[in-house]
Amino acid sequence: MEIDGRRRSNNLILDTALRDFYGAADEMHLDEGLIQTLSYPERRVDVSVPVEMDDGTIKVFHGHRVQHSTALGPSKGGIRYAMDVTGQECEGLAMLMTWKCSLAGIPYGGGKGGICCDPTHMSRKEKERMSRTFGARIAPIIGRWSDVPAPDMYTGGQEMVWIMDTICKMLGHFEPAMLTGKPIDYWGAKGRTEATGRGLAACAFELMRMKGLDPAKMKAAVQGFGNVGSYAAKIMNEAGVKIVAISDTTGTYYNPNGINIDKAFEYMNTNPGQRGRKLEGFEKEGCEKLGLDDVLFVDCDFLCPCALQGTINQDTAGKIKAKYIVEGANSPTTPEAEDILNDSGVIVVPDFLANAGGVIGSYFEWAQNLQGFPWTEEDYNNRLVALMKDNFCRVWDYAQNKKVTMRRSAYIAAIKRVADIVELRGVYL
Ligand code: GLU
Repeated sequence: MEIDGRRRSNNLILDTALRDFYGAADEMHLDEGLIQTLSYPERRVDVSVPVEMDDGTIKVFHGHRVQHSTALGPSKGGIRYAMDVTGQECEGLAMLMTWKCSLAGIPYGGGKGGICCDPTHMSRKEKERMSRTFGARIAPIIGRWSDVPAPDMYTGGQEMVWIMDTICKMLGHFEPAMLTGKPIDYWGAKGRTEATGRGLAACAFELMRMKGLDPAKMKAAVQGFGNVGSYAAKIMNEAGVKIVAISDTTGTYYNPNGINIDKAFEYMNTNPGQRGRKLEGFEKEGCEKLGLDDVLFVDCDFLCPCALQGTINQDTAGKIKAKYIVEGANSPTTPEAEDILNDSGVIVVPDFLANAGGVIGSYFEWAQNLQGFPWTEEDYNNRLVALMKDNFCRVWDYAQNKKVTMRRSAYIAAIKRVADIVELRGVYL
């Protein structure tokens, strides 16, 4: 769909990505031809994924892998398993990865993939068969120098191993750098699991430093207690930040005096509930249980949305009390909500800056795999935090100087790097 000669979409993530891109591109006076070029992915592969379910029936799932840009290097981005995965959603997320890698200064373009499914209602064997068939179907476009997948929502090291193992068998040789987010014992990198949360916390600490705020006097709420939110909460808490609310798909768990995050981890690790439902019953550990969205509205200084896209929207933005939002999820804030937040002076650290720790950590893993030589965890964490701080400061300084939002500032820096390389290489990539 087009409006005024510009591509638009009914998909919230793709439409948000396009609108944010156009806003920044116009402000930069980017060439219209280049704007049109970057509005579309270079390549999108749609695959069917027939899976033999445990009851013997065959179910056909639909999967996608999108390469938005390979201007800066191999496309990079996760694979998610969720019910709302569509080709267009993957296009929007792949575009966001292009800006994320560009801004981070790492040698990758942007990609994303996924399968439309409900992994919480599938057995391990069903997920294995689905992952392997999906891996086989996208194999022709995957490789360490072409497209390097990683985990995303509802996928992790195990899914990566199934996909990689299948593609390696097809290739007839081992190739560990073809994807990242692997388990540590199997060519993974020490530090990768916590990397996104660590990077997010680093952004929050930098923001506190810029605003002269003492972490020990700060209160934060974290939406989503998965791989991103849980470690962000833990690392912020270790620096003295009081975490007053956490949440998962079962609701919000609130304690104005601060939640014991170690206890939440312990609870989550022993609770047999499905992923995303691990905090079920946590209120008995001294918290008040509130509704699903209430985590956004509690009294706090920092809000970290680390769950789904679009949770900060026209309906919720006006009720947020936090003055600072650090986005852990991809695309949690709609453009309309961002306007509401800007008008009330809330500072938003945008997703592709704040959650870049994951892909930066993936880059470190890829580099170690290519070299066949593992780094220490200390090395990994130090380099990660240094890069995150550096990126934060660049975006912050430009935003302050030009009086624009951090999102606009981040977009301009990210688009510029891609535009310069496209200029150098030409559009026939
Ligand atoms: N899925 C993560 C993201 O959205 C990590 C991507 C990667 O490491 O390639 O940034």
